Amino acid sequence: MAEPLTNWAGNITYSAEELQRPHSLDALRSLVARSASVRVLGSGHSFNELADPGVGGVLLSLTALPPSVEVDAAARTVRVAGGVRYAELARAVHGRGFALPNMASLPHISVAGSVATGTHGSGNTNGSLASSVREVELVLADGSPLTIGRGDARFEGAVTSLGALGVVTALTLDLEPGFEVAQHVFGELPLAGLDFEVVSSSAYSVSLFTDWRRSGFVQAWVKRRTDVPWDGFPWADPAAEAMHPVPGMPAVNCTQQFGVPGPWHERLPHFRPEFTPSSGSELQSEYLLPRPYAVDALRALDSIRGTVAPVLQICEVRTVAADGQWLSPAYGRDTVALHFTWVEDTAAVLPVVRRVEAALAPFDPRPHWGKVFTVEAPVLRERYPRMGDFRALAEELDPTGTFRNSFVSAVLG
Ligand SMILES: Cc1cc2nc3c(=O)[nH]c(=O)nc-3n(C[C@H](O)[C@H](O)[C@H](O)COP(=O)(O)OP(=O)(O)OC[C@H]3O[C@@H](n4cnc5c(N)ncnc54)[C@H](O)[C@@H]3O)c2cc1C
Repeated sequence: MAEPLTNWAGNITYSAEELQRPHSLDALRSLVARSASVRVLGSGHSFNELADPGVGGVLLSLTALPPSVEVDAAARTVRVAGGVRYAELARAVHGRGFALPNMASLPHISVAGSVATGTHGSGNTNGSLASSVREVELVLADGSPLTIGRGDARFEGAVTSLGALGVVTALTLDLEPGFEVAQHVFGELPLAGLDFEVVSSSAYSVSLFTDWRRSGFVQAWVKRRTDVPWDGFPWADPAAEAMHPVPGMPAVNCTQQFGVPGPWHERLPHFRPEFTPSSGSELQSEYLLPRPYAVDALRALDSIRGTVAPVLQICEVRTVAADGQWLSPAYGRDTVALHFTWVEDTAAVLPVVRRVEAALAPFDPRPHWGKVFTVEAPVLRERYPRMGDFRALAEELDPTGTFRNSFVSAVLG
């Protein structure tokens, strides 16, 4: 019997017995057209049942399709196939002298799966990764193709779409001229007196890390563009040695530090593509809330750190600029993202997740779609003003509910 199919973290076993890997677009279209229930698996880096098709459903992988990455230098765009990961996309784009504005902490994740869940990096002026997308190519439930581009009334529902509209076979993204980044890591930064807005806007991308074993932060990762003047980071001392954000993990897994300039794609992620990202043995949760609440939300977490710390590996605080995708956790509001890398123990972690959610509830938090959360669906729906529009779009494009697994059904109500 085949090995069960699991996600990257190993905490989810998908119901499907095998992955379907069509070798051509035609084969994909006919497979979808004859299937009653389909979900696409990207690189499997989500921590919940979002990608699970349910018993009897088809779990589809696009990894046997040509991994095309087509740069159009004149239009400053790149068209990338639905199974490609950021590591390959970034190398190809860099090779043509272009850049993406931002990346997540790791380049191992698929582009289509990342933008489907609202994945983000950091930076007060950097939107989620979906913000770069200008066109989505879908295969709908009846096997027919549909392209939705920026300017189409449906576009703001079509990128961060939880895989609920169809199979994303390609995405076209905006590019910008290539740039260099220098990454600096700093040590302790107290929470008392923190001017979050000033600190988070002090460079192109800023991440603050805490283990909540005490108040305040143990590391600050500061990524600055070398083509922009920089006033430094006067609130903490530079780290004396190369660091990994997760205690006990080797710094060799991480991208170059000490302010050595280098290409954007070798500095914006924390983790190098050829190494295990993060700790490799973990669960994750993340809550995105309006940035003006950042310090109050951090104080609320500080007040329960005795509960949080025992099951926490590391907590990361980042910022995301507002975007217009209806289901983006950063929809309509400049955002602070409070991320938790937990120990790999669901039973021990879930009660703490609930405590965190209760502590953050006054700040209107939206959980990351790809991570562990327990917020009830009716509460979630209230936190997304365009949820009704998304439901209508899903009903229009997928009237048979082919792409609607139990996770999506619960969310849409
Ligand atoms: C170590 C680690 C670090 C992380 N760091 C970050 C971070 O820095 N920032 C952040 O925001 N998140 C982060 N995440 C979360 C991660 O970015 C998201 O879970 C993201 O969705 C992963 O992409 P994936 O391709 O693995 O998606 P999957 O888990 O494979 O799929 C996610 C969703 O996308 C759908 N999907 C995938 N491909 C397609 C397609 N072609 N067509 C239609 N639907 C599709 C799936 O059906 C599913 O609904 C991290 C996760 C891990 C494990």
